[in-house]
Amino acid sequence: MPTFREITDEMKKLRDPSIYANYQVRTFVTQASPGTKQVMYKGTVQGEEMEYPVYVQFRQVEFSDEEKEGFVPYETKDREGNPIMKYYKIPELDHNNVALKCQCSDFRFFWEFPLYRVGSLIGSFRRYVRKTTTRPPKNPDNIVGYCKHLFSLIQALKASNLVK
Ligand SMILES: [Zn+2]
Repeated sequence: MPTFREITDEMKKLRDPSIYANYQVRTFVTQASPGTKQVMYKGTVQGEEMEYPVYVQFRQVEFSDEEKEGFVPYETKDREGNPIMKYYKIPELDHNNVALKCQCSDFRFFWEFPLYRVGSLIGSFRRYVRKTTTRPPKNPDNIVGYCKHLFSLIQALKASNLVK
């Protein structure tokens, strides 16, 4: 499973993500899972015509019970169900392996299967039967990458110091 940086580097063989416009991220929520050392951010990104739920999950994240430099606080519950604060280390695009998901058709038809092959797809791969035989496949070499909504979510998370 690759890092976000490794996915970006390979993606450039097919499409340079620096051409992407930055779309508005309406909301995002954090799901921190210390048992599996994972942090998932779920965002809602405004596309041209509709909003898309967009997910990025970071693996091998370091957690802490104490506040530390470079860690993000999150609220959870203790054994008695009382709210307490815990902390996770800011995920790094160059370091933590990622899994990705967006509901848009670009993600589905270009990126879903290649990400699935390398273990970086959140959820299951949606199989489909190609309707055309006259046009070549979009991504025959199964190059990994991501859509403009995922790009926009990552930019918003960077601006909020939730990834680096
Ligand atoms: Zn998308």
